[in-house]
Amino acid sequence: MNANIDATKQNTFDAIVIGSGISGGWAAKELTEKGLKTLVLERGRDVKHLKDYPTTNMQPWEFPHYGQMPKEVKDANPIVSKCYAFNEDAAHFFVKDQEHPYVQDKPFDWIRGYQVGGKSLLWARQTQRWSNFDFEGPARDGFVVDWPIRYQDIEPWYSYVEKFAGISGNKDGIPALPDGEFLPPMEMTKVESYFKEKVAENYKDRHIIVGRCAHITEQQPIHAQQGRAKCQHRNLCQRGCPFGGYFSSNASTIPWAERTGNMTLRPNSVVHSIIYDEQKGRATGVRVIDAETKATTEYFARIIFVNAAAMNTNLLLLNSTSNRFPNGLGNDSGVLGKYVAFHNYRARVSAEYEGFADYTKAGNRPNGCYIPRFRNVQKQETNFLRGYAAGFQAFRHVERSFDGIGADLKDNILHPSLGMWSVGSHMMGETIPKESSYVALDKDQKDAWGMPLLKISMDYDDNDEKMVKDYLEQISEMYSKAGFTNIQTFDSHQAPGLDIHEMGGARMGHDPKTSILNKWNQVHACKNVFVTDGACMTSTSTQNPSLTYMAFTARAADYAVKQMKANEL
Ligand SMILES: Cc1cc2nc3c(=O)[nH]c(=O)nc-3n(C[C@H](O)[C@H](O)[C@H](O)COP(=O)(O)OP(=O)(O)OC[C@H]3O[C@@H](n4cnc5c(N)ncnc54)[C@H](O)[C@@H]3O)c2cc1C
Ligand code: SF4
Repeated sequence: MNANIDATKQNTFDAIVIGSGISGGWAAKELTEKGLKTLVLERGRDVKHLKDYPTTNMQPWEFPHYGQMPKEVKDANPIVSKCYAFNEDAAHFFVKDQEHPYVQDKPFDWIRGYQVGGKSLLWARQTQRWSNFDFEGPARDGFVVDWPIRYQDIEPWYSYVEKFAGISGNKDGIPALPDGEFLPPMEMTKVESYFKEKVAENYKDRHIIVGRCAHITEQQPIHAQQGRAKCQHRNLCQRGCPFGGYFSSNASTIPWAERTGNMTLRPNSVVHSIIYDEQKGRATGVRVIDAETKATTEYFARIIFVNAAAMNTNLLLLNSTSNRFPNGLGNDSGVLGKYVAFHNYRARVSAEYEGFADYTKAGNRPNGCYIPRFRNVQKQETNFLRGYAAGFQAFRHVERSFDGIGADLKDNILHPSLGMWSVGSHMMGETIPKESSYVALDKDQKDAWGMPLLKISMDYDDNDEKMVKDYLEQISEMYSKAGFTNIQTFDSHQAPGLDIHEMGGARMGHDPKTSILNKWNQVHACKNVFVTDGACMTSTSTQNPSLTYMAFTARAADYAVKQMKANEL
């Protein structure tokens, strides 16, 4: 009996955070800094900043296949191999297809990173704020449910996370893309600046800007305190950065939480479900399966932050059943797992430019340019709902000859000739969450840890098709007006998923009858559980979402701790 009481005490914390990726790292930082003894449960292995970046300083010739993925690895991993970053230098940070199967009710390429830091090691670090055109969108355009917050609610929290993470960017003054707390912007290439000017000449409401990205371009004291230095533009970020130049949980929030002395990090801990106590009317803890031994343990806490990344958070909540919640924790409304969505990354437009033959691009830049959404912003103007943002880049094509032998070969390799400028753009379209788009637990199949497999069912619709067509037409027109030639349009018809911006399933809303979370990311029907990763998103906007997850997490943690102190939780 006493032994049981001791074990329970030993396993009891003020807070539990499930997942240590971008959002979980922020939850860990905020809760520990505010004095809460916090257990961070991560299903993957530990990855310590610097120590566990095995490829970070490797030269191309040091890789067994010069950085490329061998065919047999690609054949064995057809899904993750579609991700542009799944190469020899970073493959160890990606989930391999066969180790973690799932059910594709409709084709969906699910890209995951199961380790301390989650996908924060791998992300492309684009960090654009959402605006009120996004938060007011569903109410204005009559789809899904109204967001229970507006830009003003989240604005101070954007500033808060930006200052700590380090976001480089330019204050562009564009209503659809609010400015933030920026470190100096990265430079545009000559043709990117030229395109910016041409677009400004031809369109009142279209802009080309340099991407806002989570790189330290000028170290501030808060970054020095984290042990992070200025980005050196190596453009090898996915390996883990030896300078901490970009924001990752591993370089930033997790070591920060560690230093408070209040964090217990437990890697290899697969959270199976959240324990709900009917007498107390609250969640009391979680059931954990040890990833290596498969032993089960229970941990307890007053508040629980769920940050397993959108799809896995849905899985976990759906798997957390009790007499009170037979269909998943907090799922009185029946909407848990529904209204999931993604970003439409299907389309691209490339071209060439003959001008500026005397210029080349100066060195590496771990960032691109960005075309903020310009369709249907102030009012509905097309035959589809919402709009798209786009990436844009222009670089000088290098033509390297491998002709000759001996001195001639060396000379050819050392003195490549420069071709024309190549320009390229990719689409980032908002998709509409629908009741028919869902994730659910597979009734029969389980993974190696006894967790039900996740069944994923979402697809493009007619709105997406119209948007693809419009993007291809509009970008082509913008290219023509800038004098670009050889304009080529592509529609990859790729399945949803490769955008890696899956969202929804436990959406926020005013009404518990139609949503899972309230305006504080708190489960309506189980107030001491907070969901602050992509599962909480009511709609998808066009902007990359991770900065918004960070801001939601810091805001919810602040609220949770205040509520605890007021004995409301
Ligand atoms: C190549 C690439 C490029 C990207 N580019 C961008 C970009 O430019 N901008 C942008 O905004 N986003 C980008 N993203 C997406 C971004 O990485 C994610 O939005 C972000 O990491 C989500 O944060 P998260 O905390 O929800 O999840 P993650 O960072 O994935 O972390 C979730 C963690 O939870 C753990 N976990 C899962 N289930 C359990 C469980 N049952 N028990 C315990 N732990 C669990 C996982 O192992 C993982 O460590 C990109 C992603 C990739 C891979
Ligand atoms: S580009 Fe910057 S952040 Fe990325 S690896 Fe290089 S130095 Fe680090």
